[in-house]
Amino acid sequence: MPNPPTKKYLNALVDACARLAVEPDPHDAGRDLARPAYPARVHRAAPAPATAVAVLQRDGYCCRYCGARVVPGAVLRAAALVWPDELPHDASRRPDTTHPLFLTSEATFDVVAPLALDRAEEESTFVTACWGCAAQKGELSLKRLGWELRKPREVGWEGLVGSYEALLLARKVEALSTGERSYHARWLRAFGLDADVLKRWARAEPVAA
Ligand SMILES: [Zn+2]
Repeated sequence: MPNPPTKKYLNALVDACARLAVEPDPHDAGRDLARPAYPARVHRAAPAPATAVAVLQRDGYCCRYCGARVVPGAVLRAAALVWPDELPHDASRRPDTTHPLFLTSEATFDVVAPLALDRAEEESTFVTACWGCAAQKGELSLKRLGWELRKPREVGWEGLVGSYEALLLARKVEALSTGERSYHARWLRAFGLDADVLKRWARAEPVAA
């Protein structure tokens, strides 16, 4: 069975509605809805850029749960700098201010076995996941969801990383805030792409505070 969308929860609701017609107690009729309950979302730090890049490269820039091609957030944010009206980005991800591409295709880094959190940051802790799968999975285990971890596969996709520098160079350095520049500098270094862009930025006038 392909990984998400999982029908497990919808099927439970369909069953509960059917039982409601013949069972007098709504609590009894809805018994399957209560399991598995979603554990509370645990806040955990995202991997550092160097780890994230290693995970993305290992996973071929594809979601390990559904196989969808994903794009690193830094590359999407660079694209949003070039096309702010066409591709608006808002860190809050409000649907009215964020392009759907950020919800469908931004790479996130998921911890497969969420309860085993006492590990140092390392590649093996994380898998690449599309935002939608990570949101659906939450703190549930793959077993409870009925999902399987796909093997990384070679699909000839590199998450548009090859365009990352060109996107940043398409935007005048003066138009980038210091925060944007330091964010992208960290990711450029992690991708090993820092030479040209950072040299060009270093020659530019400092950004006014
Ligand atoms: Zn996915």
